[in-house]
Amino acid sequence: MTTDNSVRVSVLGLGAMGTALADTLVKAGCATTVWNRSPGKADGLVARGADVAATAGDAVRAGRSVIACLLDHASVHEVLDPLTGELAGRTLVNVTTTSPAQSRELAAWAADAGVAYLDGGIMAVPHMIGRPGASVLYSGSADAFDEHKPLLELWGTSTYFGEDAGLASLCDLALLASMYVMFAGFMHGAAMVAPAGVTASVFAAHAAPWLTAMTGEFQGYAAVIDGEDYSVEGQQSLAFSDLDDLLAASADQGISSEVVDMVQRLIQRQIDAGHGEQGFARIIESIRQPG
Ligand code: NDP
Repeated sequence: MTTDNSVRVSVLGLGAMGTALADTLVKAGCATTVWNRSPGKADGLVARGADVAATAGDAVRAGRSVIACLLDHASVHEVLDPLTGELAGRTLVNVTTTSPAQSRELAAWAADAGVAYLDGGIMAVPHMIGRPGASVLYSGSADAFDEHKPLLELWGTSTYFGEDAGLASLCDLALLASMYVMFAGFMHGAAMVAPAGVTASVFAAHAAPWLTAMTGEFQGYAAVIDGEDYSVEGQQSLAFSDLDDLLAASADQGISSEVVDMVQRLIQRQIDAGHGEQGFARIIESIRQPG
């Protein structure tokens, strides 16, 4: 498929994301067959040049490579279990969100069926697909990734993590975990200033450049973590990173201290273990070894 636009690709699932993925392929001139469980969702794509298949089986038979963008792991099995015979010898690129264990299970299922399997984790919302900023993480068959890369790049930056099919999902979820904790931190700050009459919009205008600048610290922390030496000179110590002032100010504002408490507990466990003079990055040891 890939650079040869005459090689047909099939997209199963025309929800918001599946439609965006299929639309990008069609606009790039790829021969694309689409299928959706409920009728009517393919009309716009057909008007732009896609073919619509009446059944999932027809769609699989039409494409040498099959993109699955369904709701979840169960729906992938529901649609594809009856079609293992048709899928054999083809490539399945599954960008449906699944857990790492579910991705590995699908890779084993595909191997049994003679299907080349590539698992994808989409780091974008539908309107970002095909635009700068969209990124999709992949793991599974290296050959499938190499063969399909020109096509995958139509959706966004594509990064391959390795043959372990669960890796893309794991990294996807790790990035989401980082995002949610950052968002919770932003919400805490917004709640903190609100009683003083500072709106969330005004706070956001300050928080965005501040947090963006702070992401510049990630690589320094990463070097310390990978180097496994929290005593390297120049690091902010755990003892210096006491968050009592933040907690007291939060209490004075009458808000919950849960978000900051969580970080303080991670710091305190390392101080209690006698590591107070070591660097802040050492809180990763509190996370690695649950208290
Ligand atoms: P939607 O809810 O918009 O669409 C879900 C799709 O799955 C529809 O095509 C639906 O068909 C189909 N489906 C659900 N259950 C079944 C089933 N049992 N059998 C056959 N088809 C089924 O979701 P999205 O398109 O937004 O998301 C699709 C995948 O992409 C999800 O795994 C999601 O996590 C992932 N994703 C989405 C992002 C987003 O921002 N939207 C971001 C990153 C990943 P029908 O129309 O018949 O209901």
